Amino acid sequence: MAVIDRTFDVAIGGAGPVGLMLAAALAEQGARVAVFEAGPPPQWSPEHPDIRISSLTPASRRMLERVGVWPAIAERRLGPFEAIHAWDAGGARLRFHAADLEQPALGYLVEHSLLQTMLDQRLHAHWGGSVLCRYDCRIDEARTEPSRCRLRLGDGGTARARLLVAADGAGSALRQQMGIGVSGRSYGQHGLVATVRPSKSHGRIARQRFMPGGPLALLPVQDDLCSIVWSLPDEEAKRLQSLDDTAFLAALTDASEAVLGPIRETGPRHLFPLRSQQADSYVAPRFALVGDAAHVIHPLAGQGVNLGLLDAAALAQVVGEALQEGVDPGAYPQLRRYARWRRSDNLPVQWLMDGFHWLFSNSDPVRQLARNLGFLATERLPPAKRLFTALALHSGAHLPRLASEKIRTPTQARE
Ligand SMILES: Cc1cc2nc3c(=O)[nH]c(=O)nc-3n(C[C@H](O)[C@H](O)[C@H](O)COP(=O)(O)OP(=O)(O)OC[C@H]3O[C@@H](n4cnc5c(N)ncnc54)[C@H](O)[C@@H]3O)c2cc1C
Repeated sequence: MAVIDRTFDVAIGGAGPVGLMLAAALAEQGARVAVFEAGPPPQWSPEHPDIRISSLTPASRRMLERVGVWPAIAERRLGPFEAIHAWDAGGARLRFHAADLEQPALGYLVEHSLLQTMLDQRLHAHWGGSVLCRYDCRIDEARTEPSRCRLRLGDGGTARARLLVAADGAGSALRQQMGIGVSGRSYGQHGLVATVRPSKSHGRIARQRFMPGGPLALLPVQDDLCSIVWSLPDEEAKRLQSLDDTAFLAALTDASEAVLGPIRETGPRHLFPLRSQQADSYVAPRFALVGDAAHVIHPLAGQGVNLGLLDAAALAQVVGEALQEGVDPGAYPQLRRYARWRRSDNLPVQWLMDGFHWLFSNSDPVRQLARNLGFLATERLPPAKRLFTALALHSGAHLPRLASEKIRTPTQARE
């Protein structure tokens, strides 16, 4: 493949779900974009479900619809869920139903590789002239100058852009190169992730049991399979990962209180370390952070990708408006507008996740009482339930246009 030496409006480091969504949203605004990804092109397998599965909110669905990839995802493999049942080891219960909120679903389980493959295909098919996607090509070095950013690429090429965006994940090397620090801490937990087959149908219900060691989520995917995210103290997670299948299935059935009967089969088990992390700043001159490069939260409410997709939509909106007005899209005042907008939305979600973790991941009787009262109040008080649901579904006035409930984009208008 030819080594490049070109100038773009925006260069993106990282083709995870957030980097690719940003590229699509920017292309939708008419920007010239390059995406550089350290790893190989995404590959989705129709036969074997990806172990990385995320729960997407209706707001994320709207964004994916508006950049034209949702139908391709929905016709391949999708796990919509119409209710959420949460309960606690002490017996408190909480239920949410899509019908009560006049929504077709409360969320959708989508494999990472499917999301990335469909976004990548869309970028090539629809915006191939204005978007360059280069895989196996990490950004080795980035340097900002007053009027542009210069990149040295892993394949020996170079590129220039008016704005560089780091979408390179929690350990972002680009963030470190720009001298932006992070504050955060480990939760002392790992997320054990696997695809399992219970004996009973999941009935399109997402289930979560809160236990002193951490929550266990049983999330409905196709064909009565469930994706599990089991947050466990570090050593316990390693122990459960190393059990043979029979012993692991027994432990999982027990932890789920056999709510779906005995769990009969398990796929490979993977561990992810769990952290809470915020970048000290989301922007620097000619530089912005999106997704996990900017913030990492506990997966207990399945919000990480969703927040990242909203970052992408907000940044694309700010850049698009700058381009339309003939303003430099990498100018610091534009970027600060993006940073204020997204930080004020992301921080409360992070505090809420940290609060849930503090309240649920222990067996202290005072916190047990607070949990029971909290569940009871939320179950019985419609305004409290509505507040939680609005937070979980990302409905509200702050949404970027791409995620809003009202508008149509040029792509939607054309199709
Ligand atoms: C156990 C677990 C369960 C989760 N469940 C959910 C869920 O249900 N719902 C949800 O919304 N979120 C969930 N999350 C969070 C979600 O997985 C992350 O928020 C999401 O993957 C972040 O996407 P991203 O695109 O920002 O980063 P990533 O997916 O980490 O992608 C970063 C990309 O950058 C590339 N890269 C790195 N360095 C460079 C470089 N120098 N140059 C070029 N490319 C580079 C990497 O190869 C990678 O492809 C979960 C997380 C965990 C750990």
